[in-house]
Amino acid sequence: MSPAENTMLPLRPLRGLFVTGSGTDVGKTVATAALLRALLLANVRVQAIKPVQTGVAPAEARTAPLADARVYAEAVAGLPQAASMQPPTALRCFTLPASPHLAAAREGAHLTCAGLRNDIEARWQSGAADMLLLEGAGGLRVPLNKREDMLDLMAAVGLPVLLVGGNYLGGLNHILLSLDALRHNGLQVAGIVLAPPVDPAAGCPGVDVQAMLADNAAMLRERMQQQGITAPLVELPRLARLDAAGWQTLAERLTPLVGHVLPKCGDCEAEIVRRDHQVIWHPYASAMQPPLLSAVARTRGNRIVLADGRELVDGMSSWWAAVHGYNHPRLMEALHAQAGRMPHVMFGGLTHEPAVALAEKLLQLMPDGLERVFFADSGSVAVEVALKMALQYQQGRGETRRTRFLTPRGGYHGDTFGAMSVCDPVTGMHSLFTAMLPRQIFMERPGCRFDQPFDPASLDDARRNFAEHGAEIAAVILEPVVQGAGGMWFYHPQYLRGLAQLCRDAGALLIFDEIATGFGRTGKMFAAEWAGLSPDILCCGKALTGGVLTLAATACSGEVAQGICGGGNVFMHGPTFMANALACAVACASLELLEEEGWRQRVALLEEGLSKGLARCAGLTGVADVRVLGGIGVVETREPVNAQALQRYFVEHGVWIRPFNRLVYLMPPYISPAEDVERLCSVTAGALSAGVHVQ
Ligand code: PMP
Repeated sequence: MSPAENTMLPLRPLRGLFVTGSGTDVGKTVATAALLRALLLANVRVQAIKPVQTGVAPAEARTAPLADARVYAEAVAGLPQAASMQPPTALRCFTLPASPHLAAAREGAHLTCAGLRNDIEARWQSGAADMLLLEGAGGLRVPLNKREDMLDLMAAVGLPVLLVGGNYLGGLNHILLSLDALRHNGLQVAGIVLAPPVDPAAGCPGVDVQAMLADNAAMLRERMQQQGITAPLVELPRLARLDAAGWQTLAERLTPLVGHVLPKCGDCEAEIVRRDHQVIWHPYASAMQPPLLSAVARTRGNRIVLADGRELVDGMSSWWAAVHGYNHPRLMEALHAQAGRMPHVMFGGLTHEPAVALAEKLLQLMPDGLERVFFADSGSVAVEVALKMALQYQQGRGETRRTRFLTPRGGYHGDTFGAMSVCDPVTGMHSLFTAMLPRQIFMERPGCRFDQPFDPASLDDARRNFAEHGAEIAAVILEPVVQGAGGMWFYHPQYLRGLAQLCRDAGALLIFDEIATGFGRTGKMFAAEWAGLSPDILCCGKALTGGVLTLAATACSGEVAQGICGGGNVFMHGPTFMANALACAVACASLELLEEEGWRQRVALLEEGLSKGLARCAGLTGVADVRVLGGIGVVETREPVNAQALQRYFVEHGVWIRPFNRLVYLMPPYISPAEDVERLCSVTAGALSAGVHVQ
């Protein structure tokens, strides 16, 4: 790899403000232009950009009567600071004075948030301004294309938003709806500007206009306070003439906003991390020597945006979960809609549509023979539930001696006691909790690689353990095909078929922990399909909600359910947040999305990209193995890596990858563009060839 392949210029995080209106013709351009003047007067180096300008031919972007850039220029005319300002500009101009989607389509063009964001980013990076002033087109829900609106562009840019609203009869409604939409998209409100139209009481003769306008402002201030918005609300007067004095009046009115919109958070990432280090304990970390952290402000698609504005390409899917990327609109809609109906109710004695629909969908997707779903609130709890199911099943059959579990070494099933007892005894740190942990039976890990011919001898140790302990074994539990946190090891599916036969012969149940492997990650919907098998019990979680909320499920066969509940017995488990309605609604949407967005093809593309991209790691010194299966790419090193040095390097190079032990591994969201997968691979290879892992 050439050094250039792996160098990335440090990008300046975007800074600035997005100005939007509560509707069309509410005074947004005048407010933006006046704010531009106010900022220049405060000696802020600001560049005004209109991402999409309609009603203006490209050649007349700064001169046409409808060109906003012309209004900006008028507002700052004569100011000495304007001389050094980068000229206001419109990125995309279309002649038809209509909604951007329509105006663009007339000229055979297609606007996308990603494209516009890239153009904005390019302007920002190539200029020397301290902040951008971006002005939208019309209101928040003005379409850019069939799927995306102005609001999506605001969310993609992620800057604080200044809302300009018309102060007229009925205007309050539009402003409050706009505020709701901004909040639901996680956008910070930088302030509200109220601008009166020509006739604020049009169609309502006899109204005391001044009292009404004043009440609108008072009501809005009240609501802003209730919503925790500390930004100012500014009322602009209606001026008969917008000459230099008029612009100056408006700019002075907007001065309270200036202090508020100036980018002040240069070191807010460091500040969040500093506060974190005082009070928080992180996973598998010391409280005394706090771990290396990056503070995240937002996410979108396959990007993680840090509090200082830097963007990272995600290579982890937040530990297998965010398969659709982050903030997928369908998942967010499902969440908001369900929140409006019912966030949660107890599941004892009550049920609801999202839970029932989810259980039905899950059973359709899972291997045949699974008939009942028990919802749990995390993967570890789903494993506890599975273990308890197996124990109660064996008790129900009168097999009271069957109280132990057989499991391969190298497994990982969670951090609660039951789950921990079946994790690898060395990496699962059993020594710390020996006195408390049930003593399970461990067999050799499945030794036969996924990509090699099957070796029947790999089942010998399982056979030996059944011969020795068969009568004590309630069930075998394992992660099918891919052992995850215990080593990212891919083994031959035939091993599972042999093991299933041994279980049947010995009267033990077979439990598949598909918490990591479920929902397409290995190239099959569930990894059990590689072996053409149905386990007696199957656990899933992680990607179940597309990474939005915590939810897991344990499904079992009809025979297991009957075995437990025969003679009027009940299953003894019932978490408070069982079948949380928000999580179930999002999970239903996530499962629909998997199908609609063609997960199989996307995972195949990931496999192709990872195989190609990681191949260059194979020859590097200290690399023991490179393997890829579905959407999982692994580089295994000979010695444990310096995880902290690698993590720092990766963040500095714009990617999010978190290695552990002897593993640098990638499992990007399914929606990751090919060039981002390549970037993850090339930065990985760059780090390993530079020896960062052995620093
Ligand atoms: N089983 C497997 C295979 C897992 O990978 C994990 C999580 N890494 C768990 C169980 C535990 O899930 P959770 O972290 O949601 O408790």
